[in-house]
Amino acid sequence: MAEETIFSKIVRKEIPADILYQDELVTAFRDIHPRAPSHILIIPNQLIPTVNDVEPVHEAALGRLFTVARKLAAAEGIAEDGYRLIMNCNQHGGQEVYHIHLHLVGGQPLGPMLS
Ligand code: 5GP
Repeated sequence: MAEETIFSKIVRKEIPADILYQDELVTAFRDIHPRAPSHILIIPNQLIPTVNDVEPVHEAALGRLFTVARKLAAAEGIAEDGYRLIMNCNQHGGQEVYHIHLHLVGGQPLGPMLS
């Protein structure tokens, strides 16, 4: 059984977060240290530590990450100019929180890579 992170507590609203969207599969909230004018994290409610742990049973929740990303990009007013979706995996990928999350980043030109 994987160990819970702070993101499970955000899903259960046990600690504060600026939650923009929540349904039975996913939760979206603003990153506490935004790297751009819009920086939102979209996560499955169920703990999946990394992309290496993804199974077919997770496909509905992981697909929902993208439909919610699309809606939030429109709501943030960044859809037309564009944005970046990032999911880091493990140490070399720069993952810090071991509960899968899709970064939605935009509101300014981002350059070739997000560092
Ligand atoms: P990673 O490097 O794992 O892909 O990204 C983790 C992200 O989670 C970072 O951008 C970090 O700022 C954000 N983060 C870490 N702890 C918290 C928290 O308690 N609340 C929120 N809203 N974001 C967090």
